[in-house]
Amino acid sequence: MLCCFNLAVAQKSLTKNVVIITLDGYRWQELFNGADSALLFGKKFNSQDSAWRIKKYWDQDNSKRRAKLMPFFWNSIAKNGQIFGNRKHKNFVNVTNKYWFSYPGYNEIFTGFADSLINSNDHPANQNVNILEFLNQLPEFNGKVASFTSWDTFTKILNEKRAGITVNAGFNNVKGDHLSEVQESLNQLQHWLPKDYGTGERHDAITYALAKEHVKLNHPRVLQISFTETDALAHSAKYDYYLDAAHYNDAMIADLWNYMQTDPFYKNQTTFIITEDHGRGIGDSWPHHYYTVPNSNELFFAVIGPDTQANGEMKQSGQWFQNQFAQTIASFLNITFQNGKKLGKPIKEVLPQNK
Ligand SMILES: [Zn+2]
Repeated sequence: MLCCFNLAVAQKSLTKNVVIITLDGYRWQELFNGADSALLFGKKFNSQDSAWRIKKYWDQDNSKRRAKLMPFFWNSIAKNGQIFGNRKHKNFVNVTNKYWFSYPGYNEIFTGFADSLINSNDHPANQNVNILEFLNQLPEFNGKVASFTSWDTFTKILNEKRAGITVNAGFNNVKGDHLSEVQESLNQLQHWLPKDYGTGERHDAITYALAKEHVKLNHPRVLQISFTETDALAHSAKYDYYLDAAHYNDAMIADLWNYMQTDPFYKNQTTFIITEDHGRGIGDSWPHHYYTVPNSNELFFAVIGPDTQANGEMKQSGQWFQNQFAQTIASFLNITFQNGKKLGKPIKEVLPQNK
């Protein structure tokens, strides 16, 4: 028996902690191709000086251009992890829900299935059990699951009240009797910044800084960060601002990854999964997404961590779905997620290959 027990242990993943990050409605087109020349050079969708934005984001060469926009994705994840969703290679990632907007998409990510009853962003507190809540109920993870989001609706998407996890969403202050100076500052600052380009949502940089401080102080084992500026600025039809949002989201992901590699609690035993709730339209429809907007059900995802082989940009043909992320998070932690529904299967390509 000893042999078999050891064998089973050897097949477990090295991942002890999972960070799941979403970039709301960020197009796979920009991730894989960098700035779109028609949108970047044209006057219609930009707000700032063209020389500035072209210098910042343009290069004739596709690989240089996309690395200019998302340097962590192309200099780090592409070397040490996996990136899915480049449809040029018939590498397809899609939502399975039929709505193609945020609440249905985040429900699908975190509960592992598409719920046709969730058909509005004003849907009340989610009736479905999500993976964060499920993990938090296990003794190993209890009190070690945290959520920081720019969009306030996550208190409902994750059903904060029932889930029993702290969801710091929208303009909520971090609560507690012994806050750090950084937490106290951020609690103030978030209310003093101009409302984010008229979107009314919390700046992603504040969401990120609150999450990073929580990591330093509390060492969560499961952390969700949801950024929203890519979507909000796309809806404002400002392509240069939308690119900026993606560029700075990439920088924040890099900062968190690099910070965690300096902390023994996280170093070499933490997996990042990065994806989104929905895609967007193409051409002049790029600011929009909805079931009436073709292509806005198209996604990307990326994974980097100790169990994920360094295959870089995935070029094999295949189809992956948004409903697979919940069970993939569970699999990295050697757990099977159950919530009474038929769930998407774990994404086997990113998991330990001996599993
Ligand atoms: Zn949107």
